[in-house]
Amino acid sequence: MIDHAEITDLVGDQADAWDRAGRLPLDLVGKLAAAGVLCPQVPAEYGGPGMSSLAAGELTAHVGALCSSLRSLMTSQGMAAWTIRRFGSTEQRAEYLPQLVSGQLAGVAFSEPEAGSDLSAMATTIEREGDHVVITGGKVWVTGATYADLLIVFGRNGQGAAAVVVPTTTAGVTVTAVPDPMGCRAAGHANVQLDSVRLPADHLLSGAGLPLEWLVTSALTYGRLSVAWGCVGILRSCLTATTKHARTRHQFGKPLAEHQLVGRHVAELLVAEQAATRVCEHASRCWDDGKPELVPAAVLAKHLAAGNAARGAAAAVQVMASAGALDGHPVARAYRDAKLMEIIEGSNEISQILLAEHAMAVWA
Ligand code: FAD
Repeated sequence: MIDHAEITDLVGDQADAWDRAGRLPLDLVGKLAAAGVLCPQVPAEYGGPGMSSLAAGELTAHVGALCSSLRSLMTSQGMAAWTIRRFGSTEQRAEYLPQLVSGQLAGVAFSEPEAGSDLSAMATTIEREGDHVVITGGKVWVTGATYADLLIVFGRNGQGAAAVVVPTTTAGVTVTAVPDPMGCRAAGHANVQLDSVRLPADHLLSGAGLPLEWLVTSALTYGRLSVAWGCVGILRSCLTATTKHARTRHQFGKPLAEHQLVGRHVAELLVAEQAATRVCEHASRCWDDGKPELVPAAVLAKHLAAGNAARGAAAAVQVMASAGALDGHPVARAYRDAKLMEIIEGSNEISQILLAEHAMAVWA
């Protein structure tokens, strides 16, 4: 397993260039994937690092501080692996999980043009035809899809839902990159058209026919926790840049840090990072201990960490001012990347709805 310091060395100061190019180098992504870094919780019996959620979370924050596009691939690959672990048969786990920790890349496809926050509007169909399964529909904004070898596609299956493993080379699959995303620009977001894609039935993950909410919530819980830890990373990168600048940049005869209004920004950034870290640690411990409150804990962690990252990155740009107001500067990148974290894996508003339901169930 590659450790934090090695990942720092591998990424170096290239995140800015990748962001501008809208592309991650495939050799580096392949190396990290083959080391299991992109889905660190896959157990050792499948060749994975077998990390706890807590350890994987700190790794995710580390990558998130370096490059949110790369961290986005971790989130997708980890969600794909978790969905296979959770819903795959013994044979499916044995087939696909070793692939995901040996260099194959995966994306997860829920969203559709008419099914964003409301995934119950999903129109993609996954239908069994004898020994085959046929998938028809269109997915949007699938992270990592331009790099992916496999997609986990969710869709309707009879009265319920299903998830199916779709190799991107299958006839009928068309992957079209989302042009010029606002943030996480190198994360390979793409729209995916699935025209009567025909695959052997063993690509259909067991669990087919379950309610959509069950299937989706399981994958999203992993994704939310991963995004939340990624936001901790964004906050840490903002703290690094902001404190260094506030110490070295002088105005009115003293360092910026000695101006109390600037100090307040720095203090609030620290509070944002610490609070986000604590809620992420709590949710990860719920995961590791198999606690039932994991689902709301992951929503809370994602909601708090994404909001803190968006506000924290805005404060970091404020402190850096013209020094950070440049395309590709770490805080400018953080500002764009963090805003998107308030949209994905359940937007702020959807998170608030879920947390309100939870509060009513527990407190009313
Ligand atoms: P809409 O659902 O149209 O919502 C628009 C606004 O209305 C939002 O502010 C929303 O919060 C609000 N809203 C909607 N319903 C309600 C309500 N009931 N009450 C209050 N407010 C409401 N999808 C995938 O399947 N796989 C991926 O890997 C993936 N990666 C993504 C990466 C990025 C960077 C982005 C931007 C998107 C990604 N998506 C992915 C899509 C993402 O999941 C959706 O964008 C998200 O679910 C929101 O859907 P929408 O954009 O259609 O917004």
